Amino acid sequence: MGDESLQSSKKCESNKSNVIIIGGGMAGLAAANYFLKNGMMDFKILEARKRLGGRIISIPLNKQNVELGANFIHGVLGNPIFELAMANGLVNIVNIPKPHKVIAATEDGKQVPFGVVQEIHEAYVCFLRRCEEYFLCQYLPPPDIHSVGEHINLEATIFLERLPSSEEKKLRRLIFDCFLKRETCISGCTTMDEVDLLEIGSYTELQGGNILIPSGFSSILEPMTKNIPQENILSQKPVTKIIWDTCEHNAQRNSEDLGEESEDSDQTVIEDISKTSTTSNERNTILLEASAIKANNQRTKKKNPYVVEVICENGEKFYGNHVICTVPLGVLKEKASSLFEPSLPQYKIESIERLLFGTVDKIFLEYERPFLNPEITEIMLLWESSVTTENLSQSWFKKIYSFIKVSETLLMGWLSGKEADYMETLPMEEVGITCTKVLRKFLNDPFVPEPIKCVCTSWRNQPYTKGAYTAIAVGASQSDIESIAQPLFRNVHDNKPVLLFAGEHTHSSFYSTVHGAYLSGQTAARRLLANDTAENIELECPQAADLNSWIQGIQLEG
Ligand SMILES: Cc1cc2nc3c(=O)[nH]c(=O)nc-3n(C[C@H](O)[C@H](O)[C@H](O)COP(=O)(O)OP(=O)(O)OC[C@H]3O[C@@H](n4cnc5c(N)ncnc54)[C@H](O)[C@@H]3O)c2cc1C
Repeated sequence: MGDESLQSSKKCESNKSNVIIIGGGMAGLAAANYFLKNGMMDFKILEARKRLGGRIISIPLNKQNVELGANFIHGVLGNPIFELAMANGLVNIVNIPKPHKVIAATEDGKQVPFGVVQEIHEAYVCFLRRCEEYFLCQYLPPPDIHSVGEHINLEATIFLERLPSSEEKKLRRLIFDCFLKRETCISGCTTMDEVDLLEIGSYTELQGGNILIPSGFSSILEPMTKNIPQENILSQKPVTKIIWDTCEHNAQRNSEDLGEESEDSDQTVIEDISKTSTTSNERNTILLEASAIKANNQRTKKKNPYVVEVICENGEKFYGNHVICTVPLGVLKEKASSLFEPSLPQYKIESIERLLFGTVDKIFLEYERPFLNPEITEIMLLWESSVTTENLSQSWFKKIYSFIKVSETLLMGWLSGKEADYMETLPMEEVGITCTKVLRKFLNDPFVPEPIKCVCTSWRNQPYTKGAYTAIAVGASQSDIESIAQPLFRNVHDNKPVLLFAGEHTHSSFYSTVHGAYLSGQTAARRLLANDTAENIELECPQAADLNSWIQGIQLEG
């Protein structure tokens, strides 16, 4: 039905289009751009928020743009976001990183010699790389070690055992703990004990380091949106239902929408009159009427040939032939059971549940005037006591592992997991006051000023994100990402899927990144534009829950 018109360049009507893209983050925009490049204009983007970009959002603060979401282009070689940024003059060819001078301090305000920090950093990186090797080399881990946290802690313990003094051990342990906290912000979890040891290596790091976009990450949205006709983008359209349908379900629904009886009820009419009418004339007249109703139903069904119905929060309906769903994993975790009709297959629901989508937040502290040594770019906080999840009100801030200088008058702290969830419940001024106490303690300076402004992100509480990014939890695997990414078919004979998934959570090696989201959006769009060749045909469809029904489908077709 929609397959032929996918190749057309016709523009879409107000609430009807061949493809409905749900979400205007990087994945949705990449899909839209792929369509445009291939002359397919018949799509709509339904975006819940007022703005596009999703987890890419830069805001002006302290006379510059700061990133509330994505910070860096991770890697250069083979990174489409870097290429896009380069092509649009958003990054320099030669990216000379600013000199980075880190100090590490303990709770009593004592600075740790840099050499010690460097020594532990080298060991830590080595331990982390070893964790990543399990995925690639398929070694067996030590017994009862399932997570990255457990493995690094085991290696750290062995590393520290050789040290003669308990003081040396203790200090180095604090540094390891600090790096582990930082890692929770990279993975998006409460502790690294949640991240699967055998799967962490599934994330592929692109070479070239982390690149900042000086004008703000949001400036990448300009080249991504400039060619999309305005009428194809509808913002403030939170989608609450995606009816992606089966043939039978669709037939029934079309009739109901049009205020008519369903095909089944035609059948009922015919059966009923054959039982009740007495004369053959009467029977013939009624049968003629019934078949007229049926014919009329079939005609009206043709008027609304779209097989997908998408309903927004305000009741507005959109019709299409295919849907690309790019809502984040956090939204899927919370809403998948009510969002899709028919419901998603069980294997997808289980994969959605198994994967991790933790919180990562940032705290920005803006100051009236500089107060830190201009040479220092980061203060690492070596907390002695660890966070106790039972009493987060007294300990949430111990998860902040460092403050980074964004400029001389702007500091930024990161925190993750349950502590970040708790922080999101606090007024920003209170967060600012607590951070000042922390800084005074670690810098051993009671005159550290109060910030004039404190801005905190709240990714967990954002209804259209519900967390930060995807990680592979203990017990989950890369195949869970692949399962979520699997497109769904309405029936076995269709050669193009009706429901496709894109977003960072659907990229099996670049999950959690902007480039992963971009590539996943392209893949979904490419899939819909692909030639109808045999290799495009997938087994997945609601009626093909098992191989038998799929084989039956082939036999029927033959
Ligand atoms: C704090 C933080 C730091 C990060 N740092 C980096 C980094 O340095 N580098 C990097 O590469 N990546 C980073 N990321 C990850 C990166 O931002 C994401 O991977 C990427 O932007 C995801 O794009 P997406 O299109 O998959 O999802 P999103 O950007 O989340 O887009 C999904 C869209 O769907 C919309 N939506 C949700 N529900 C509905 C609904 N019901 N109806 C309609 N629309 C809906 C949302 O509003 C959103 O616009 C970071 C993320 C966070 C939170």
